[in-house]
Amino acid sequence: MKENIKLRKELFVETLLEWYKINKRCFPWRKESDPYRILISELMLQRTQARQVEPVYLEFIERFPNASMLVNSSIKEIESAIYPLGLAHRAIRIRHMAEQLQDKHLGVVPDDIKGLTDLQGVGPYVANAVLSFGFGKDVAVVDANVARVIVRAFTFSVRSSRPHTDRALWSFYQEMLLSGHGPDLNRAIIDFAAAICVARKPLHSQCPIRGHCDYFADHRNDCLVVQTG
Ligand code: SF4
Repeated sequence: MKENIKLRKELFVETLLEWYKINKRCFPWRKESDPYRILISELMLQRTQARQVEPVYLEFIERFPNASMLVNSSIKEIESAIYPLGLAHRAIRIRHMAEQLQDKHLGVVPDDIKGLTDLQGVGPYVANAVLSFGFGKDVAVVDANVARVIVRAFTFSVRSSRPHTDRALWSFYQEMLLSGHGPDLNRAIIDFAAAICVARKPLHSQCPIRGHCDYFADHRNDCLVVQTG
């Protein structure tokens, strides 16, 4: 199982993309590719459930459809827009980010990692998410949930207690992103981690990649006991 890693990666990607065709989740920010909207959605999605974000995001985008509207709004207005997500404390940062967009990029979201991570409150995860979902680039988007799937499926050995910060894991996953399929694969693995390979009690028996999964191979009996127990 642990040999021929190239072939296993290919099978993993192929299977996940097939699974995603049928199981993809629908969110308002997935219906478009405006980088500003993607950026706002990703800032809201950090540590918050997507379903909770949906109504707040829609209202926010209507009130502040671009960086210029944010710059011309008061901190109080921004605070009240994101208050339902418990993010009111981020209003100053968001306004500052919008000011940076206006001053340095003429209100346009930059399409490079340096330009993005220079923005207030934008780290490598959000930057890559914007590059992937907003600009269609084949870059890895790895959060704790995505890292969990990779660690399990490939018994990937991480040195940190926070696997999603492990650069080697990012590189390992980056190698799987097929040309032109990066955004789909990123969303496929995010949805798969939320629906099947969940943190507690993963649904091994419904898992389309269990035939290529190290964790399943190593814990086969336990996995099936958990499923029926
Ligand atoms: S078989 Fe189980 S551990 Fe492996 S990817 Fe599927 S759900 Fe996750």
